Amino acid sequence: MHTADVVVIGAGIAGASVAARLAPAAKVILVEREDAPGYHSTGRSAAFFAPAYGNEVVRRFTAKSESLYRSPPDDFTDVRFLNPRDVIFLGRADQAATLAAQEEEVSDLERLDVDGVIRLVPVISRTYADAGLLDAGGGDLDVDAILQAFLRAFRRAGGELVTNAEVLGLERSGDRWTVRTSSGEIGAGAVVNASGAWADETAGLAGLEALGLVPKRRTAFLIDLPADVDSRDWPLVVDADEEFYFKPDAGRLLVSPADETPSAPVDARPEEIDLAIAVDRLTRATTLEVARIHQPWAGLRTFAPDKTFVVGFDPRAEGFFWLAGQGGYGVQTAPGLSAFAAELVLGNTPDSVDADLVQAIDPARFI
Ligand SMILES: Cc1cc2nc3c(=O)[nH]c(=O)nc-3n(C[C@H](O)[C@H](O)[C@H](O)COP(=O)(O)OP(=O)(O)OC[C@H]3O[C@@H](n4cnc5c(N)ncnc54)[C@H](O)[C@@H]3O)c2cc1C
Repeated sequence: MHTADVVVIGAGIAGASVAARLAPAAKVILVEREDAPGYHSTGRSAAFFAPAYGNEVVRRFTAKSESLYRSPPDDFTDVRFLNPRDVIFLGRADQAATLAAQEEEVSDLERLDVDGVIRLVPVISRTYADAGLLDAGGGDLDVDAILQAFLRAFRRAGGELVTNAEVLGLERSGDRWTVRTSSGEIGAGAVVNASGAWADETAGLAGLEALGLVPKRRTAFLIDLPADVDSRDWPLVVDADEEFYFKPDAGRLLVSPADETPSAPVDARPEEIDLAIAVDRLTRATTLEVARIHQPWAGLRTFAPDKTFVVGFDPRAEGFFWLAGQGGYGVQTAPGLSAFAAELVLGNTPDSVDADLVQAIDPARFI
C-alpha cells in the first residue's frame, strides 16, 4: 500500500491548489477520477476575476487571491494569469433597488448612467438599460495556466498526482485513513475532500451524512459579433439580478443565462431551454442578433446552503477535511482559499485577524 501524510481527493482548482500549498510541508498524494485534472467545473468556468462578486466572505478570499493572480512569483509561472477587464452590473429601471443595495454593500463601484454604459458597451439597448455599476478591478483569468502552475509547484515539492483513480472507499482505523481507489489503496493520516460536485458523496464513502451541498448547472456558449464591432475592451456585463452575463472571448462573445438549476453530480451538459433563455435575455438587453450558437457547454457550481465555502476538519471523523462549496467563485478565490485551508490542515492557527473566517467557513455549522 502507498502511504502519505495527506490524500487530496479531486484535481480541480481546489485540490490542485491546496495540494501545492501542502506539499512543501507534508507527503501528499492527489487523486483524480478522470484521466486529466480540471475536467469538470474548473475546465468549464467563465474564467473571470470579479472582486465585487459574492458575499462578504467570498470577497475577502477573492482579495486574498489577487496578488498571486496579478503578480505571480517568477518561479511559479512565466505567463500572465490575469488580463484586466472591468465589470458592469447592468440594471433596468425596475432593478434600481437591487443596484442601490449592491452599491451600498460594495465599496469602489462607480455608478454609470445609461450613456456611460453605452459608451463602454455600444450594443446595450437604450430602451432596456437604466444604469450600471462599474467595478474596475476585474480581469480574465487564464485558468489552464493557473491550474498547471499549481500542479507544477505540487510536483516540484515532491507531490504525486494519480489520475484514473476514483476514490471508492474511505475507512478510518486507529490514526490512519485507508483510501481505496480504482487504482490501489493509499494509507494517510488525513484526507482532503476537494471533490467539487461530489463532495457530499465523498463524505458518504467515509460514513458521514451529507452537509447539503447542491451542485447547480450553469450554461455558456459563444456567438459571433458583427464584423464592424470591436468588443476587445468591453467589460464583462452582468445583469443586476444575475439573470445573464456576457463578455468578449477571443473575437467572439461568451454568453450565459446565469442558470442555477440543481443537479446530481454528473458530467453536466447544456440544455436547449437554457440556450434559448440566454438568447432571449441577450437580445432584449442589446441590439445584437444571434444567428448561431457555438460550442455550448455546462458545468456545475456547488453551493452550501449559505453560499459560503465549506472548509475545515469534520468534527465527526478525525482527519477528514472539507474543501468544498466553491460555488461560482472557486477559480478567483483559489490562491487565498488554498493557503488558508493548508494552514488548517497542518494544524496551524490562522492569523487572529481572520479568526472570524475560520468560523464562517467551518463545516461544523451544518452539523
Ligand atoms: C459555467 C461556469 C462558469 C464559472 N465561472 C467562474 C468564474 O468566472 N470565476 C470563478 O472563480 N469561478 C467560476 N465558476 C466556478 C468554478 O468553476 C468552480 O467554483 C471551481 O472550478 C470548483 O473547483 P473544484 O476543484 O472544487 O471542482 P472541480 O473542478 O469539479 O474538481 C473536482 C474534481 O474532483 C474529482 N472527483 C470527484 N469525485 C471523485 C472521486 N470519488 N475520486 C476521485 N476524484 C473525484 C472530479 O473528477 C473533479 O475533477 C464557474 C463555473 C461554471 C460551471
